[in-house]
Amino acid sequence: MSRPDFKLFNDFKMEADTLPEIIAKRREIDEGTAGAAWTVVDDFVMNHGRIFVPSSSSLWPQILEAAHGTRHEGVQKTLQRLQASFYTPGAAKLVRQFVQDCLVCQRNKTEHLHPAGLLQPLDVPSSVWSDIAMDFVEGLAWVASLDKQLQKRDEFLAEIRERLLQAQVHMKATYDKDQLWVLERIDSVAYRLLLPPKARIHDVFHVAFLKKHYGEPPVDVVPLPAIAHGCALPTPLAIVRARPLHNSWDLLVQWVGHDPAEATWELLEDFKERYPTFQLEDKLFSQGGISVMDNFFG
Ligand SMILES: [Zn+2]
Repeated sequence: MSRPDFKLFNDFKMEADTLPEIIAKRREIDEGTAGAAWTVVDDFVMNHGRIFVPSSSSLWPQILEAAHGTRHEGVQKTLQRLQASFYTPGAAKLVRQFVQDCLVCQRNKTEHLHPAGLLQPLDVPSSVWSDIAMDFVEGLAWVASLDKQLQKRDEFLAEIRERLLQAQVHMKATYDKDQLWVLERIDSVAYRLLLPPKARIHDVFHVAFLKKHYGEPPVDVVPLPAIAHGCALPTPLAIVRARPLHNSWDLLVQWVGHDPAEATWELLEDFKERYPTFQLEDKLFSQGGISVMDNFFG
């Protein structure tokens, strides 16, 4: 750990006196039977200069978070970081589980999308290569047919978004999400998923496109941007001002995630059509388009 968390070290020091493994090791060190690797430094029981943290410690979630949570590196890097400061016989297993369950990693690291179809156990060991080849060819054929159906990438993304929204609703509505997610396992590489009724894509998915979720299902779902004609719409934050334009109004719109300086003028009708639920305040239109700001900045 490059930046030791002092609170964590202190918390562990407090807890250490209650852990049987630490008490036993301390006694061995006192009696001279523990071996040269073991020392007591600044009240910490250490192995080769690393703090001994038995797997029974209640602080493992914080320790793992410190080792993994800032950079979200893989198992090996996280383990190295951990083992630079801490010694525990079961560290590799704890790290593997923690990284696997990490929500941030699961959401962001698409390289974790293994083509599971190629990793299925094979029934007949003597035909390993032909089976792998078959899985691969079937997978490619399937991808090609999917490509043909989807034509436009934007349309594909819009559908995926709809499918995710639907899945989010179902995940919230029921614990037994597996029954709703996967309707049917067609074979070892193809699954039929529950799609929204108006989805225009095939409901059978190659496992290469599916990803197993590890750990507890998330309570919060990531909000997805609105979609119009297959493109993600920006979200309006506020209407800065309004000015009369021809027979209508022009709105200066500030957008979520953008600088106030990046506000853009939008026609009232267009804006209303795209964001029908956005509340437009009456006072915007009550001063002939001159807001208080104009009095200062002209
Ligand atoms: Zn992570």
